[in-house]
This record gives sequence, C-alpha cells and structure tokens, in this order.
Amino acid sequence: MEVKNYLEDIVLRIADTLVKKDEDFCKCEHCRADVITYSLNHLKPKYASNIKGHALTAVDIESEQIQAEVTVQVLKAIEQVKKHPHH
Ligand SMILES: [Zn+2]
Repeated sequence: MEVKNYLEDIVLRIADTLVKKDEDFCKCEHCRADVITYSLNHLKPKYASNIKGHALTAVDIESEQIQAEVTVQVLKAIEQVKKHPHH
C-alpha cells in the first residue's frame, strides 16, 4: 500500500500552467520549485492510500473547490517568488 499527498499532483499541474502563462515570471527551475514548495507549505495536505492503483480517498481531489484553493495559493506563491527570488 502506498500513501501519498494527492495535493502534490494538483499543485504541480496548476503551478506549471500558471507559471507558463505569466510572461514576467522567471522560467528557471529554482523559481518553479519555489512556487511549488511555497504552495504546498500553505495548503493542507490531502493524503490518500492507494491499493493496486485505486485511489481510496474521502475527499474528491479533483473537485472545483480544491482546484480553486490551489489556484489561489499558487498565485500568491508566484507573487512572493517574484518579490523575493532565490536564484
Ligand atoms: Zn529564477
């Protein structure tokens, strides 16, 4: 059995989309990683166990509410990283 934080997949997907859309945002690997870590650190993890490829979870990880929460947090992360880049 595997237990993982499903939010990681959602954050990765949304962060990649938003970073690509933002023309002012630095495209280096470091800034992308900063956006992802900042977002994950500010969101409540959503763990689910996975048995033989079937995700068993009490929360609907693809729900619009979760996508919206992640989008808000990723946008905040992008602003933070723009102000204080670590590269
Ligand atoms: Zn950078």
